[in-house]
Amino acid sequence: MKQNRITNIEAISLYVPLKEKIDAPISIPHASVLADTIFSGYRTTLVRIQTEFGIEGVGECMVRLAPTATRDIIRDIAPMLIGRDVLDREALWELMYGTMMNRGHSRGFYTEAMSGLDIAIWDAAAKTLDVPLYKLVGGRHHEKLRAYASSIRFRDMDLVLAQARDYKTRGFKAIKIKIGRNLERPELDIDFVRAIREDVGDEMKLMVDANCAYGEDIGTALRVGRAMQDLDIYWFEEPLSPDNIDGNAALAAALDINIALGEADFMMYGAREFIAKKAVDIFQPNISRTGGITEARRIAALLQANHIPYAPHTGSCSAVCLAATLQFSVALPHFLMFEYMQSDWSKNQPNPLRHDLLKQPVEIFEDGFMVVPERPGIGVELNEDIVDNWRVA
Ligand SMILES: [Mg+2]
Repeated sequence: MKQNRITNIEAISLYVPLKEKIDAPISIPHASVLADTIFSGYRTTLVRIQTEFGIEGVGECMVRLAPTATRDIIRDIAPMLIGRDVLDREALWELMYGTMMNRGHSRGFYTEAMSGLDIAIWDAAAKTLDVPLYKLVGGRHHEKLRAYASSIRFRDMDLVLAQARDYKTRGFKAIKIKIGRNLERPELDIDFVRAIREDVGDEMKLMVDANCAYGEDIGTALRVGRAMQDLDIYWFEEPLSPDNIDGNAALAAALDINIALGEADFMMYGAREFIAKKAVDIFQPNISRTGGITEARRIAALLQANHIPYAPHTGSCSAVCLAATLQFSVALPHFLMFEYMQSDWSKNQPNPLRHDLLKQPVEIFEDGFMVVPERPGIGVELNEDIVDNWRVA
């Protein structure tokens, strides 16, 4: 088969409203007003492309707000991709990027729309060759992927320690903890992490994630960072605003603990700035946001050349992003650890886009590691009932 042309592209926005209002994680800036917007439900935009030889490619755009924004962008740019060969994936990426780069849209919703399309194109390309996606990325570098449990959120200490013990019992060797809950009293966070450290023991790798809680307050971030390194915490994630590259560089220079960030960032141009200013020790791109597989490969190369490990972000994306990230990560020589999300936004309403969206789940967790399936492409088949149930008209 010399080529496999795209015959149809469909973008589908899904929204699962939460029945009960939840409190936004309180470290997040403006958390008190986010319950009715970002945290009112689970959202995503899926991309399905069909080809002349009957192959379907599936991708996901990361969505935190307005899922139909990415859907409508995809509807508008789809005509220029129809009739094009899915094997020309990087050329198609440049076509999409070139369309809007000089029109002020090389970040944000446009890049997230491109990401979903790009993943679907790579999925279709790998299926055209009847190989798992990792074969096209470069081949398997890891037998399985080291994974961490994400994340322990602030609750009563008894519940938190029970959760940490549960992760340990299930075989996790690494756990991430959310911090940044009280900016006036950062010692509460420090005590919280210390209690978990004492309970799970020194063998457990622990990371902390502030979700940008300290904003522009480098002094508090430094104080917390020093305490975290004393507790042998492996990384300090998003301490400051993601736009404060100089502030992150100052932290990285002053602290021994690794500064991790990247989930809020787009494209290799964003990564380049953090690297150039020595503002990051561990980079965390999300392929459904940063520009798809095509762009994540370039970011990976940039990081590798600068000896910075790649720790993929999956966050609260759907099972499609999870599947694609597994396939992509297994082909990365400098892959560090896989974010294996364990918590739903609502305990009473688990995310169906994570748990029920695929006919056959792709996640297999064994003794601290993710096993990466050998199915063609990203290895997913959508559960049509879930798609139909939550589709936004
Ligand atoms: Mg994070």
